[in-house]
Amino acid sequence: MRVARWHGQRDVRVDDVDEPALDADAVRIDVTAAGICGTDLHEYADGPDFLPAPGDPHPLSGVTPPVPLGHEFSGTVAEVGADVTAVSVGDPVTVNPAVVCEDCRYCRAGDHHLCPDVANIGLGMESGGFAESVVAPEGNVVGLPPDLPVELGALVEPYAVGLHAVRRSALDAGDSVAVFGCGPIGLTILEMARVAGAGEIFVSEPRAGRRALAADLGADVTLDPRAGDAVETVREATDGGVDVAFEAAGVTPTYTAAIESTRHGGEILTVGIAQSPVDVVPKDIAVRERSIVGSNGYLSGPRGREEFGAVVDRLAAGDCHPGALVTGRISLDDIVDGGFEALLGDDGDHVKILVEP
Ligand SMILES: [Zn+2]
Ligand SMILES: [Zn+2]
Repeated sequence: MRVARWHGQRDVRVDDVDEPALDADAVRIDVTAAGICGTDLHEYADGPDFLPAPGDPHPLSGVTPPVPLGHEFSGTVAEVGADVTAVSVGDPVTVNPAVVCEDCRYCRAGDHHLCPDVANIGLGMESGGFAESVVAPEGNVVGLPPDLPVELGALVEPYAVGLHAVRRSALDAGDSVAVFGCGPIGLTILEMARVAGAGEIFVSEPRAGRRALAADLGADVTLDPRAGDAVETVREATDGGVDVAFEAAGVTPTYTAAIESTRHGGEILTVGIAQSPVDVVPKDIAVRERSIVGSNGYLSGPRGREEFGAVVDRLAAGDCHPGALVTGRISLDDIVDGGFEALLGDDGDHVKILVEP
């Protein structure tokens, strides 16, 4: 079985390996498509971050490099373990990649997505989606309706990130929204905010192609932060600021713009997983009584189906447009040059590249 594995920084190889063993409660899936995510690019260029380091086994999975990559994927069930009842061979499925310990204070409280020992399929497990096949626990496998193209099931994961961010926010029907950064996650937030009944939606994004896509997906106002004062435009149009801003870039200019574009008492959702410090003026939070709220992935463990299932329903109903985010399709053999390097070198309009093994 062929699988793309992280061996080190800028060293991802398509290796031929034995298929992982199938436990009684596990499902083997023939992969139809797997999306390349910003997290994959970060691991490729600067990892290991979520990945275990060489010689330092993952606390939950025990895996060390080389590690399979690919955590956004879909496919068809090829084989089921003896105890599996939820899916059958031939079923189209996607997978919630987060596998949790079930034993820490967060898992015991039902907040599985906060588990400190989480291991994601494709980010620290024996399997990953950039492969001909994947093995996943039954509880992580989510069925797809027959009328949704299987490949688009690979987009359920990033849409679940968008849904979780909207659910973490105080967004109420009719509330105004600003989204800073229109990469894949900013765009799924935009679509989920629209589904959730947001009022006027502003987006700020320097790339013209992504602004056009955001407009197609329902943004009312698209702003180029390099062409004018996006904050001033938002504040003037909304009597002093939006109710909720989503920050999906994670650098100081967008972070401060997200804060300053919210009204007094407004809320800023931190969704971008940047690790470099950003400058925040405490007065802008304190005096305006703004709230900064973090959003991490999506629900996992037994509750993971709540958000993954809701996303599958929205995609099947046509409320979201995952096909519009797909700007490239490549083979597994082309994953480095046509995938990672192409996205890292891209200052054009790529959004999501699907690997089709
Ligand atoms: Zn991802
Ligand atoms: Zn846990």
